[in-house]
Amino acid sequence: MMEGSVIPETAMRSSEQILEKPESAIVETEKPVFEVKDVSLWYGDKQAIKNVTIDLLPKAVTAIIGPSGCGKSTFLRCLNRMHELIPRTRMTGQVLFRGQDLYGAGIDPTVIRRRVGMIFQKSNPFPTMSIADNVIVGLKLNGVRNRRVLNERLEKSLRMAALWDEVKNDLDKPGVSLSGGQQQRLCIARAIAVEPEVVLMDEPASALDPIATMKIEELIRQLSSDYTIVIVTHNMQQASRVSDVTAFFYMGQLIEFDETRRLFTNPKEKQTEDYITGRFG
Ligand code: ADP
Repeated sequence: MMEGSVIPETAMRSSEQILEKPESAIVETEKPVFEVKDVSLWYGDKQAIKNVTIDLLPKAVTAIIGPSGCGKSTFLRCLNRMHELIPRTRMTGQVLFRGQDLYGAGIDPTVIRRRVGMIFQKSNPFPTMSIADNVIVGLKLNGVRNRRVLNERLEKSLRMAALWDEVKNDLDKPGVSLSGGQQQRLCIARAIAVEPEVVLMDEPASALDPIATMKIEELIRQLSSDYTIVIVTHNMQQASRVSDVTAFFYMGQLIEFDETRRLFTNPKEKQTEDYITGRFG
């Protein structure tokens, strides 16, 4: 069903405050974290992304919106080479990550996926692992053995994911014993434990109830002071609440990219206007 187009005033206020900050994402002189240049992507014969060019700025939340099937998730996967795990994909164009060709010779996709972490729609804690092990598993895989370092990083990540107080006495319990919203925050703790530079989120709250969703949205805002965040959402209110800038995709193309407030209140393109006013979904 189409989401309503009216952006709650409180949501706009929080995004205004963000836009007013001097270190705002909108500072034009900031060097982009990602420079996406003329990227197209196919699954077999089917083209999912068409000639997308966009710069993503550091320590900002970029929302990707658009109707189902318009290529939002595919675009996200181009930013950490996740699409390469899907058979029969082909990409053209270029993605620079901090000025370096993400797809260049000698670039290890597993290293990229550590620097550019990802959170999925459905939380996916490792079912046989405790809460603690779920958070530090990535560090262990990267060779960190020092117990003190692991414990410090465990607490720091859980605190950053706003979960520490809820689980500090249950660290040995299974990760899957937590509620849905807690499991998603556990996955966020796991993603940030390896200290990525970017966190990609694909509909991170769409399976959660309103209170758990609110917690995730608060968390996204908090994390944005340290991380570059790109979030796919079909929920326009959510985009307006959490993001600094918004990209509207339609049928594989990037139609409009602007400050969130401007895109929702004064879109330049008719297709954007039709979408945000609920004429199609
Ligand atoms: P969105 O995230 O906006 O819903 P997607 O990026 O998931 O859109 O999909 C874009 C297009 O690519 C859709 O037509 C979808 O059917 C197709 N697609 C997505 N994933 C795959 C896949 N693994 N194999 C084949 N086609 C896919």
